[in-house]
Amino acid sequence: MAIIVQKYGGTSMADADCIKNVAQKVLRAKSAGKKVVVVVSAPAGMTDDLIRRAKQVTEKPTGRELDMILSTGEQISISLLAMAIQSMGEEAISFTSAQVGILTDGVHNKAKIEAINTSKILAELERDKVVVIAGFQGVTKDLEITTLGRGGSDTSAVALGVALEAEEVEIYTDVDGIYTADPRIVPNARKIDSISFDEMLEMAGAGAKVLHLRSVELAAKNNLPIHLRSSFTDTMGTYVVGEDTSMEKVFVRGVAHTTNNAKITIANLKHTSKNVAYLFHEIAEQHINVDVITQNYLTKDDVTISFTVTEEDFDRALALTKTLAEAIGAESVTGELGVAKVCVIGVGMKSTPGVAARVFECLANNDIEIDLISTSDINITCVINQSDYSKAVLAIHNEFDL
Ligand code: ADP
Ligand code: ASP
Ligand code: MG
Repeated sequence: MAIIVQKYGGTSMADADCIKNVAQKVLRAKSAGKKVVVVVSAPAGMTDDLIRRAKQVTEKPTGRELDMILSTGEQISISLLAMAIQSMGEEAISFTSAQVGILTDGVHNKAKIEAINTSKILAELERDKVVVIAGFQGVTKDLEITTLGRGGSDTSAVALGVALEAEEVEIYTDVDGIYTADPRIVPNARKIDSISFDEMLEMAGAGAKVLHLRSVELAAKNNLPIHLRSSFTDTMGTYVVGEDTSMEKVFVRGVAHTTNNAKITIANLKHTSKNVAYLFHEIAEQHINVDVITQNYLTKDDVTISFTVTEEDFDRALALTKTLAEAIGAESVTGELGVAKVCVIGVGMKSTPGVAARVFECLANNDIEIDLISTSDINITCVINQSDYSKAVLAIHNEFDL
């Protein structure tokens, strides 16, 4: 069976006209002889609105109940799209994740997909129906509803693509490809025809929300190409693939940024590897993702450690770090919101000296203070003040003539 998985994001599902447009695109793929599985997100703005509603009731909703409300947005989309396809004279059936069996672990709001039962989907495809599945949500083996984290529908689509051995996963969104920087921030950013899994992993990890990080991890692990393209045009988008023949020439592929960061600093901690290991082990146990970590020696024995987390995890991370730091005798713990991260990415950096120096000079020339730095052989990350992020992205984009 030649199966194709198509995923449509929130803006593609925003209203009735958009949904009819999606239905037409789906049917075009079907009439080209494909068996089509469609994964959809909630209509644009709905997930934010559901969070707002929850927060009107309580500042701190429990993870379980938050998932219960958040999963409803995608359920609206699947039924509307199935209806639209049916009204065009074709057969379609919608399913929630629980109905088909997209099994996740039990970590509410950040669940990971563990297995997918494909039997129901394959049976409906055999009956020549379009199968429409709710993205972003999952179910535990105890039938608890979970969600995969913001932007998680991309990951649902790729996971289904892998489980169904699809020939391709197409991710339809409101931009016509992956650009050298977020086109909302850099108007003259350039569309990339194809990008390697490694570079896209760095871009997504660095905040290019055009693809959910875990969708790229899954695609890379299974060598499943992703075609990212626009819902509103028929032009070719960007292929995310295992290899890119132009790779050698490109030492900086793109710039990515995130603005929803916070920084936590532990001052005057007695330095032993045991202390550091204990600290980050306990933080990980609470499912808090730690990003950039730096450690500076104040004296031979004492260090200051800083790390970043998302704004969402900030309150929990700060409270936990204070307790942990006290237990291991650190002097103080401080937290700071309003932090941004700008990342310069490219596989060619490995063999091109001086890229980091150019990034730092460029930021300095634009009066942007660098707070923390972290580098790998294909990524230079600078943590800066949130108010400087668009200036920084534009300046770096110009500096490397992307
Ligand atoms: P969807 O709702 O379809 O999943 P998202 O809003 O999650 O769409 O992702 C698309 C958005 O990603 C674009 O509108 C764009 O602003 C943003 N974006 C960030 N970085 C990039 C990039 N490098 N290339 C293209 N888009 C990017
Ligand atoms: N609707 C969810 C969100 O807004 C999932 C997604 O769009 O991928 O985060
Ligand atoms: Mg998205």
